[in-house]
Amino acid sequence: MATLRFQALKEFLEKKPVEVKLPSTKVSDYYGKLVFNEDVMKRFLSKDIYSAVLEAMKSGEPIDRKIANSVAAGMKAWAMENGATHYTHWFQPLTDGTAEKHDGFIDYGQDGEIIEDFSGKLLAQQEPDASSFPSGGIRQTFEARGYTAWDVSSPAFIVGTTLCVPTVFISYTGEALDYKTPLLRAIAAVDKAAVDVCQYFDKNVSKVTANLGWEQEYFLVDLSLYHARPDLMLTGRTLMGHTSAKNQQLEDHYFASIPERVYRFMMELEVESHKLGIPVKTRHNEVAPNQFELAPIYEEANLANDHNQLVMDVMKRLATQHGFAVLLHEKPFKGVNGSGKHNNWSLTTDTGVNLFSPGKNPKSNMQFLTFLVNTITAVYKNQNLLRAAILNASNTHRLGANEAPPAIVSTFLGTQLSAMLDNIVEKVSDQKMTPEEKTNLKLGIGRIPEILLDNTDRNRTSPFAFTGNRFEFRAVGSSANCAAAMTVLNASVATQLREFKVEVDALIEKGVKKDEAIFQILRKLILESKAIHFDGDGYSDAWKAEAAKRGLSNITSVPESIHKYTAPHSKKVLVEGGILTEKELEARVEVELEKYVKKVQIEARVLGDLAINHIVPTAVAYQNILIDNVKGLKDIFGDKDYQELAGDRLNLIREISGHVTFIKNKVEEMVNARKVANKLEDMSEKAFAYEQKVFPMFDEIRYHIDKLELIVDNEMWPLPKYRELLFMR
Ligand code: ADP
Ligand code: MG
Repeated sequence: MATLRFQALKEFLEKKPVEVKLPSTKVSDYYGKLVFNEDVMKRFLSKDIYSAVLEAMKSGEPIDRKIANSVAAGMKAWAMENGATHYTHWFQPLTDGTAEKHDGFIDYGQDGEIIEDFSGKLLAQQEPDASSFPSGGIRQTFEARGYTAWDVSSPAFIVGTTLCVPTVFISYTGEALDYKTPLLRAIAAVDKAAVDVCQYFDKNVSKVTANLGWEQEYFLVDLSLYHARPDLMLTGRTLMGHTSAKNQQLEDHYFASIPERVYRFMMELEVESHKLGIPVKTRHNEVAPNQFELAPIYEEANLANDHNQLVMDVMKRLATQHGFAVLLHEKPFKGVNGSGKHNNWSLTTDTGVNLFSPGKNPKSNMQFLTFLVNTITAVYKNQNLLRAAILNASNTHRLGANEAPPAIVSTFLGTQLSAMLDNIVEKVSDQKMTPEEKTNLKLGIGRIPEILLDNTDRNRTSPFAFTGNRFEFRAVGSSANCAAAMTVLNASVATQLREFKVEVDALIEKGVKKDEAIFQILRKLILESKAIHFDGDGYSDAWKAEAAKRGLSNITSVPESIHKYTAPHSKKVLVEGGILTEKELEARVEVELEKYVKKVQIEARVLGDLAINHIVPTAVAYQNILIDNVKGLKDIFGDKDYQELAGDRLNLIREISGHVTFIKNKVEEMVNARKVANKLEDMSEKAFAYEQKVFPMFDEIRYHIDKLELIVDNEMWPLPKYRELLFMR
């Protein structure tokens, strides 16, 4: 018997829902309890220090050492009061997760006695020996030092007994080695560019904030079963497994009542998130069996992203306590939906206006249209850059692979808004408008709030949809750090807004009235970016053909997509836009390519091991049972009758040999292809080799393994099956 699998199944049957106690029925009683937020600061810092920190949070400028000392003292006192014994700089290297190195508060005092210490110096900056984080060649191992520096805009928090200080991670020579640094730069860039454009409409605007509301999809599988699946443990997805007879055909999982063990997990996840000041709000079942979703109320983008990173971590930890493993991979199971992370994005002003919400009068609606049209144009011009930020080894199983969303970037606007843009194109011209024409146009624009009210036709197939008061970037993968997507989106829009302003100002200079200048440029942009606008079915083959005709790109190759980071227009956005230096950008491309290579390499190894060490021996053992059976029949019935009596088993023996031989040969071929790829020095060539020569063999090998799964005695099959992974909870 396949011991591990059956042991796991037995363990599963013995599991009970874990007891979870709500700290209070009022979430406000414990919300943010583990966060060094403004309320706490008021209690633990003097008035001057508190204002200095607030000022730094607003301006994004670092705070000076003296102030840091006082903040550190207050932070330490608060943290110790809440059970913390250690502190760490918490940062986001270019890997799939966050990094932390814990140090105790312990130190020697003046006379050699033991004290608790946490100085401003330690709060503000640290130098972790970070030689093994990816740097794309920026940081040679012999000068391994990088440093982490406090991001004052994101509050410190406590996890377990550790005080965590969100930081950026930078090489000794000053280059960004993380996701946070470019995100902060992009947020600052879009702030500046948007404020400048807002001046056309409202002189009081002095800050524009980028917001992010993420929707995190994930799978839960029973922890014991997970441990019996080396592919899940090592790669995050199943590399084999025959489809379950029932999966999502009946659509009975989506929004259905939540299974009890899962419900308890979700409850505790919410409590822990709320204590950490993460405003999670929505939980529900997703489309695939054992797939779920968690979403917060949106927040400022940098904070929201920290919170998403933190939540992914908390999820993994809590899931274990509830006897589950959480799968954040984009495509853990073949044949059922994969997981994404919709990034809901908007811009709001410090005067309280959402720039993607139509206003109450023609002027504010003109502002709305300005931001809408510039965003669409930015997406049009940067479709390749946006894709580069989200297409990777795991998300490639979703994008362009017959499920949400396609690899073609397009924007959905809905019929009414589309008609409004057409209207502008029709009514506006390069000529001076008559007062009557102007009134007509303004009247039309004034009607936007009404038309949007019933703009409910939400298109779920669009990778970048306008959904009433925000854009929803749906192509982001569930395991991603949202910062990659949010960096390029905010940077692209910043660049576009700057260009828009230059063009409008040039017309005004020439004597065109401001309103007309704005309309003329909007008209031009609507026409220019028309190709990106698509309200139809994004999954259809017709759209692929149509998109090609429109000249939109449809890149499904991961290395090819990564290279678009350094295409001329991308450089304009990122390098000229001050988001990444040339060197940082090139390093990032190198890191992404390397990550791709390593992930496919690991998958290939795991697949090879499982095929040869788990599947083939099992198939052969079963085949031997059949052979014994056939031999026995021959003994009993003699040569003449046994042929007929054992006919099906003789075929089966042959069939098993066919599959086993194919698997053995193909795995060997795959190992050889890997050897060839590994010899390539150039990371880009290596990535293409892995994609074109190694990766395609996965499914060929899998096909034969999955066939064997259908043949071999269930009692002997070593790996938990899809029905067990997807339906046991
Ligand atoms: P769905 O898209 O599934 O209908 P919701 O309407 O619940 O989901 O919203 C999803 C996410 O969008 C939530 O995080 C929500 O806070 C966020 N969101 C709502 N309005 C905005 C906005 N103006 N800007 C950014 N995010 C927003
Ligand atoms: Mg959504």
